[in-house]
Amino acid sequence: MSFRLHDSLTDATVPLPARTPDATSLYVCGPTVYGYIHVGNARPPVVFDVLVRHLEAQGRRVQYVRNYTDIDDKIIAVANATGDDPRAVAERFIAAYREDTAALGCRPPTAEPRVSEHLPQIIAHVEALLAKGFAYVTDEGDVYYDTARFADYGKLSKRDVATGRAEFGRGKVGDCKRHECDFALWKRAKAHEPEGTRWPSPWGDGRPGWHIECSAMSHAILGHGFDLHGGGMDLKFPHHENEIAQSEAVYDGPMAGAWMHNGFIEVDLERGASFAPDVAARLPGLYEREPELRKISKSDRQRRDELAARADSLDADDAARLAVYARKVQVGEWFQLRALLSRVDGEAVRLWILGTHYRAPLGFEVAEEGGTVRLPPIEAAEKRLEYFYDTRMKLAARRAAVGPVKPGAPKPTSLEFFVKAVADFDAALDDDLNTAGALDPLSRAFSRANELCDQKRPHPDDLEAAERTLARLCSTLGVADRDPEDFFARVTGRRIAVRGLVRGDIDALVKARTEARAQREFARADEIRATLTAMGIELRDGASDTTWRAV
Ligand SMILES: [Zn+2]
Repeated sequence: MSFRLHDSLTDATVPLPARTPDATSLYVCGPTVYGYIHVGNARPPVVFDVLVRHLEAQGRRVQYVRNYTDIDDKIIAVANATGDDPRAVAERFIAAYREDTAALGCRPPTAEPRVSEHLPQIIAHVEALLAKGFAYVTDEGDVYYDTARFADYGKLSKRDVATGRAEFGRGKVGDCKRHECDFALWKRAKAHEPEGTRWPSPWGDGRPGWHIECSAMSHAILGHGFDLHGGGMDLKFPHHENEIAQSEAVYDGPMAGAWMHNGFIEVDLERGASFAPDVAARLPGLYEREPELRKISKSDRQRRDELAARADSLDADDAARLAVYARKVQVGEWFQLRALLSRVDGEAVRLWILGTHYRAPLGFEVAEEGGTVRLPPIEAAEKRLEYFYDTRMKLAARRAAVGPVKPGAPKPTSLEFFVKAVADFDAALDDDLNTAGALDPLSRAFSRANELCDQKRPHPDDLEAAERTLARLCSTLGVADRDPEDFFARVTGRRIAVRGLVRGDIDALVKARTEARAQREFARADEIRATLTAMGIELRDGASDTTWRAV
């Protein structure tokens, strides 16, 4: 096994930790289930799904654990706002998360532990921290972690607790907390909080803090010192720093063999200025003076509305701000994964994510063309997928049609080529999961497969090698590895819906054209075809019938 990865804890490239030969244990922090996810949340499931697929392709068994945070203040807030039971809110968004990640081509993890099912383990872990003097109970009945007691606090996020405490900046030292980076292990329930939001504990009814669940659940399923801990870069501090403090205070040795953090998906508000042409012109200096304008937040809509309400009397800077907020609201809407999936296929989103190394930032772009919202890089990924699936269909058909090797036929030409493509592909993924690099040998393999299909008499062994290679590479990336007919049906269905077309109308036109051809009214047939082309419908004349697709 030659897989190496960048370990975020040591900032070094290290071999894959292997507590057990031939097996890998992986824990990835999952979602807090209080709403639908955005595109940024889509990156970790895709990245770690490919990691698991790659390690399995190399013959390793992978135990992949991803949790659901189903007890949380945000879930309770949604429940209060909607009048639902918090458990029903969590259940609904767990189902939504499963649907969304399945649309992205992610397989379910081996285990999906929930906080609500691990209260005893969480309480036991807090008790162990109290017994060892790493935690304290406040007068209000909350339990806090005493970060000053853990000498290594800050080692993951490279923060110096002694000299740089202020930069931790989460809450103030008050009656309850001894230090500003101390964090809640157990929160005592308030008197008015209802059933379903409180659980009994030695410190009274309440609920766990966020960080403790991952220490308790990773230990319950994988034990201490599992191989890999993963998650988004935003979790490095405080979440993962706190997990380390909790786990390593109770058990000996490192919590995980190595840490993998994926980078952000960033919204590039300055690019794609075509969306609001005057934004860029009005911007000089504004982003520098107000860096928070680069981020999308929930209050953007409110600020846009406030400025828009007095649009007639705005000074130049406020007018520029209005343009920025308006664009942020529009881009923010498309940043929601479900909105995005109404326009592009989940597999295209996956291919787009894999086009950039997981640690590098990935820019999310929205543009406007003739009044239509466009998502240029993801739409390009979808086109590429169509080419992948078409090639796989063509290859399967060609293989089925070509007969056995005739005596005296030329030898196969591409066997070594495909062996090398697989080797290059694996080498790229072995190099810190360089999916962007792995797409090169994948593309080369597709080109060669197409060349073989176009040959007059391709060698059956070449076709077999092409098919086997594409199946192997596609299944490792989880790209173009599903039923092609389903893919095209899905893409066509979505495209005609977006354009407001009706399937029955298209079918009727196609039928009229077929009849015109049968009557030898070719001018009429061509006219109908032109009409369909203008609607973005492509016809495929087969031996017995004509099928169509939206392009
Ligand atoms: Zn976690």
